[in-house]
Amino acid sequence: MKTVTSIAELQSCLSPIRGKGQSIGFVPTMGALHKGHTELMRIAKTQNPVVVVSIFVNPTQFNDSNDLQSYPRTLEQDLAKCEEAGVSIVFSPSVKEMYPTPEPQQFDFGSLDKVMEGKYRPGHFNGVAQVVNKLFGIVKPNKAYFGQKDFQQLVIIRKLVEVQNFDIEIVACPTVREDDGLAMSSRNALLTPEQRQIVPIISKTLFAAQNKGSNFNVKELVRWVKDQINSTPLLDVEYFEIADATTLEPIYKWSDAQQSVGCIAVRVGDVRLIDNILF
Ligand code: AMP
Repeated sequence: MKTVTSIAELQSCLSPIRGKGQSIGFVPTMGALHKGHTELMRIAKTQNPVVVVSIFVNPTQFNDSNDLQSYPRTLEQDLAKCEEAGVSIVFSPSVKEMYPTPEPQQFDFGSLDKVMEGKYRPGHFNGVAQVVNKLFGIVKPNKAYFGQKDFQQLVIIRKLVEVQNFDIEIVACPTVREDDGLAMSSRNALLTPEQRQIVPIISKTLFAAQNKGSNFNVKELVRWVKDQINSTPLLDVEYFEIADATTLEPIYKWSDAQQSVGCIAVRVGDVRLIDNILF
């Protein structure tokens, strides 16, 4: 496994690979790697001879400077996990390398980046799009792997590929969960033991909602999910919305969408967790 920090070095590693016509699979991450990330790498490995992982805590997608500061950074352990997963190249640039000058690019994703996460984290998806746009331009992968855990992000990345005309296949990978159902997240490391014990109620409630499905109308189900979680000590629902899984527009009755998704963000002290479930 090669570890590179400069764009020039990465490109000199990649051009002979492209020259040989080998397919490049790309897994962008912010590090603090867990099984959710290594599963993306595993899937990428099954589909490409060369897998590139980026590890970069992208400042432009953080709308809260405390969140950026407290974001876990564990590069050494991350590199060991990449090596174990059979990754070919890890790209871990500095902020200066990625943004030598302030990044001016603004994207327009219509309503996709205005709802849910977009509403509560203004500018977040523009920052995600800035960094992924740059990384796609640098790595020029054949396929890129994203987790369904960040459902709205996945929809926006597909839109980015469309608006920027990237010739990249986006592969959606299922959410990896702890044994108690909690969606794996780098932010889980920031939870106190007491908070960690309580947070599985989030996914348990989503699974229960999925089972109730159309026995409830949409509005009742939304109310029920919020009440279940808000009545749990330490948990505070920021939003729970049921939306069309393609347009992310809220739905009001089940027949409004062929496939719908329930997306949730919950505050647990200073930590913010997200999860989602398909209906
Ligand atoms: P992050 O490092 O949080 O920016 O995530 C990097 C990639 O890993 C994104 O595509 C995420 O959706 C994906 N990811 C994070 N957590 C999980 C998980 N629990 N299951 C599957 N994919 C995940």
